[in-house]
Amino acid sequence: MKFIGNKIFIAFLIFFAGIKVYALDVVYPTAYNVNINASSTFFVGNTNPEEILTINGTKIDVHPSGAFAQKVPLNIGKNVFTICSGFDKKVYTINRNAVLTVSYNNSSKIDNFKKFDEEKYVYIKNDGTALRSTPVEQGINRLSHLEKDVILKIDGEMYGLYRVVLAENNYAWVNKKSVYENVVQEDIEPAKLIAKYFDQINHSKFYKIKLTKRIPYYVEEKDNELILHLFNIDGRESVIPVKLKYNLAGYDAYYERDNLVFEVKKKLKLYKFKPLKDITIVIDAGHGGSEKGAVSCLRDNEKDINLKIALYLYKELCKKGATVYMTRFTDEFVSLNDRVKFSNDKQADIFISVHANSLPDGKDPMKERGTSVYYYYDEAKPLAESILNSIVGKVKTKNDGIYQRSFAVVRNSRALSVLIETAYVINPYDIILLNNEKFQKNCAKAISNGIIEYLKSIQVNQS
Ligand SMILES: [Zn+2]
Repeated sequence: MKFIGNKIFIAFLIFFAGIKVYALDVVYPTAYNVNINASSTFFVGNTNPEEILTINGTKIDVHPSGAFAQKVPLNIGKNVFTICSGFDKKVYTINRNAVLTVSYNNSSKIDNFKKFDEEKYVYIKNDGTALRSTPVEQGINRLSHLEKDVILKIDGEMYGLYRVVLAENNYAWVNKKSVYENVVQEDIEPAKLIAKYFDQINHSKFYKIKLTKRIPYYVEEKDNELILHLFNIDGRESVIPVKLKYNLAGYDAYYERDNLVFEVKKKLKLYKFKPLKDITIVIDAGHGGSEKGAVSCLRDNEKDINLKIALYLYKELCKKGATVYMTRFTDEFVSLNDRVKFSNDKQADIFISVHANSLPDGKDPMKERGTSVYYYYDEAKPLAESILNSIVGKVKTKNDGIYQRSFAVVRNSRALSVLIETAYVINPYDIILLNNEKFQKNCAKAISNGIIEYLKSIQVNQS
């Protein structure tokens, strides 16, 4: 009997698949039973726009495309939601735990600080280890990214980070797990300066300092000056100031063997005809392959939208004379590290990462819309502003702001780097735009214009 029942069921399925175009498709939450520890979440998906959509009996607005997005409050404990559209009915159980949130104070108060009886020395395990200004493992508190084998003097710990003694009354923090401690006595001789070099290649000036060992450093940005601070393990500090006669176009400091290299980018020139002919740009279409990015209310994958806009941007920038590279041309997985490495290998002047936005639980996907641009280093802020103004002006998306955020691709690229969230895939109105070819093309044009406007502005500001 069961066998026959299945057969009938399959016949019904085939029958319905042929005529039933719409079915209630809930994209988020992604399962019928989930744990969400926030005061609210949302139902995002699509259905037949002709049918009435309800959540626990309350009517929900459906966009003419069928897309919907509805915020729902969550009580602590079990929350049951019944979502209905036409003959479709789905029941979701969402559990919210009472969570204890631990917030670390970013101030210099160090109540939980455990000071060691005596100072110790440690070595950094891997390249790219963050040296931080506060004992917090996140946020905009990175002084520099140190390389493997940089030696650090530490005098205590808190919240899983060691306190690094840079100089007298000058401290930094490093994750305990990112260092190793088998330092022998002769290792702790102070580093000696062997030689200094100066070099200029392409768009960069290089100040190179050859040392007997790797010691910590960071770069301080001032109005018309960059200052490289170098800290020897006996507590002595050296400074290398570089006066800027032009608007800063980017800088970096890093070790190449025992040479500390301080690279300062020269001003980017703009030409009348083919304005970008002197400029190398890397376009980074966010996500790809197995990594889909955000999923829209209509079930589009962010990775595909990003690639379409990135490809139009590629054409635009080539037309303007730039040397342009893409971190991916097709739907393939590329790691964040490889994207950064690619950009640095190509010696890109500008790095543009193209994404489309989504939201975490606790936000309202009907209220959040529009375009936002992110930067990490202050020198990229004017570029971020210029691109945002250009997009909002041309494609009329809501201005969702520019923000300083610690995104790995933006933080680790040596180029002037920004990340663009073109619009929200999770918003029923924005997703219509994102899927529109004309919008994609105009968005690409606007990004290209934003880059040119930025370059124009730094030509004028030149002192
Ligand atoms: Zn993304």
